Amino acid sequence: MPTTLRLILGDQLNQNHSWYKEKSNDITYVMMEMRQETDYVNHHIQKVLGFFAAMRAFKSWLAQNGHNIIYLTLDDPDNQQSLPQNLSQIIKEESINLFQYQLPDEYRLDEQLSDFCESLEIESAVCNTEHFITERSELQTFFKGKKTYLMESFYRHMRKQYDIMMEGDQPLTGQWNYDQDNRKKLPKNPELPDRLSFDHDLTDLYKTIQNAEINTIGTVNPANFRWPITREESLAALEHFLEKCLPNFGTYQDAMHTEHRFVNHSLISFALNTKMLHPLEVVTRAIEYWEENKDDITIAQIEGFVRQIIGWREFMRGVYWAHMPEYASKNALNHQRKLPDWFWTGDTKMNCLSHAINQSLEEAYAHHIQRLMVTGNFALLAGIDPNEVDAWYLGIYIDAIEWVEITNTRGMSQFADGGIVGTKPYVSSANYISKMSNYCDSCHYVKSKKTGDKACPFNSLYWHFYERHRDKFEKNPRIGMMYRTLSKMNNKDEILDQAEYYLNSINEL
Ligand code: FAD
Ligand code: SF4
Repeated sequence: MPTTLRLILGDQLNQNHSWYKEKSNDITYVMMEMRQETDYVNHHIQKVLGFFAAMRAFKSWLAQNGHNIIYLTLDDPDNQQSLPQNLSQIIKEESINLFQYQLPDEYRLDEQLSDFCESLEIESAVCNTEHFITERSELQTFFKGKKTYLMESFYRHMRKQYDIMMEGDQPLTGQWNYDQDNRKKLPKNPELPDRLSFDHDLTDLYKTIQNAEINTIGTVNPANFRWPITREESLAALEHFLEKCLPNFGTYQDAMHTEHRFVNHSLISFALNTKMLHPLEVVTRAIEYWEENKDDITIAQIEGFVRQIIGWREFMRGVYWAHMPEYASKNALNHQRKLPDWFWTGDTKMNCLSHAINQSLEEAYAHHIQRLMVTGNFALLAGIDPNEVDAWYLGIYIDAIEWVEITNTRGMSQFADGGIVGTKPYVSSANYISKMSNYCDSCHYVKSKKTGDKACPFNSLYWHFYERHRDKFEKNPRIGMMYRTLSKMNNKDEILDQAEYYLNSINEL
């Protein structure tokens, strides 16, 4: 009889974990599909399907490799739909005398499991997921005593520590960061690679989810589920990205287009966040590919990609563990407005938002600039309650797990953390959206108008945002200039009135 029970959470699908190097009849693994996970927020249907399908594939891999596994499906009559209840039952039934788990990445589960272990009469132990390249507390130690964390210093530290694109202690070519080169709009009628689609038939799983009456958002064709759900598929997605997208990844990283939802983005966040891929293997393979193809791929492309993974991704995780649980209730700008209804339907006349939201509902995906400078930008300008903004982002994206969602949303996008993640809020008028996309060309609103009929809402809301937060930003050396511009505007009151009008009719925009 097995005596050790090892828990694998839905985002711990790391085949290379040292746990699986040993095979023992004394060890049983447990995985479970639970209502506690489907119901803590309204998830996108593709997110629920993606997680459960990837978990089922991981279970098959474990079984094929000779490991004992208990797998509770959503509709298993023995499934009590709660982690502690299921675990207690299995520990009792299987006469387990040692319980082990890997460090959860979410505070909620971390607390739940440590409370559970305290209540246990048997021994328990927790181990590392062997996924991230930094420890939970590493960022906090690195920035000890600092109020603001600067991602760039942390990123350089990571490059040095892992000797990534370095020559001695200096960056290859002498330049750390090529962000300035990576801000191009797409040309007219761009030719972009197709997404690599995996076409899974998840109809049975979909029916199980429907029968359980789980509330979900968004749409899916369950007979043609497109995301990778195994390690092999995740590796194929990475290779596809390197071959087809990396040559132009950095150049068009910020670009948006009505006809191209994915531009040159990698679509590997789901595979990374479920740990089917390891961040270091992704970066190592990408650099290897770049080294073999330097004639086609400039350093700006590879540097941009590497920075997202060893920089931003690890940085956000460090911020999360340095500031949870307080982080989840931060609202530095005291924003209280309700999220407009059209965030859930995409039914708005603002073309940029209509595209970003409809795409999110249909794909469970939007790329970084759509999240930051379209939906996030609007929510911040309009003063939406960060709790509502967080619930939307946490639900809608297939890659949304709290540690990386909340730091990006509450921190980077909504400035609700008061400047821990970013030194100034990411806001823009129609200017930026028009510069980086073709959305404005076919919009109901007029991008150049601040007031009057069909004036683009972003323009007046932008100044309204600065005016209503004057006390917080006027003395910020990076923002002060905006207030000097505002004071010189002779139609300032008209612009602010226009913004008020839009805010009062926000659901009709
Ligand atoms: P690519 O553009 O191809 O980038 C490659 C990889 O870099 C990504 O897969 C991701 O792992 C990493 N990366 C890039 N930017 C970031 C970042 N800012 N933080 C952390 N990792 C990053 N990312 C999530 O993984 N989950 C989320 O829930 C999430 N929520 C976000 C919410 C907001 C408001 C914003 C502005 C960003 C959010 N991001 C989130 C970060 C980023 O938008 C996504 O990682 C990215 O769009 C995923 O698509 P991709 O794999 O095609 O990324
Ligand atoms: Fe968005 Fe304004 Fe451009 Fe319309 S005009 S697409 S609302 S930025």
